[in-house]
Amino acid sequence: MGKKDRHTPRTAFVTLRDLPGTRVMFWLVTDCPYCGGQHLHPAGNLRSADPGDTLGEHAASCNPERRYVLTLPPRPSRKRGKEARRKERRAGRMSDLDE
Ligand SMILES: [Zn+2]
Repeated sequence: MGKKDRHTPRTAFVTLRDLPGTRVMFWLVTDCPYCGGQHLHPAGNLRSADPGDTLGEHAASCNPERRYVLTLPPRPSRKRGKEARRKERRAGRMSDLDE
């Protein structure tokens, strides 16, 4: 079963692209976990079902023996980022006072 662990698919973040002039969509792997390059995977047709249906495990384009899981990247929350930065600054100020 250890062999199975080695083949655990890695996560590959994707963005949705469409082919200009067509109704064909692709998932663009922007940073392949295996080769660091970009790969395209068909995401279906604009007329057909949710392109999200084609997310999930796929064979890596650069190496069919490897698999990765096409995943939408988490959306960065600006509000949360600002708050975290403020908290960080406050923590920094407090530690300054301590010394
Ligand atoms: Zn690759």
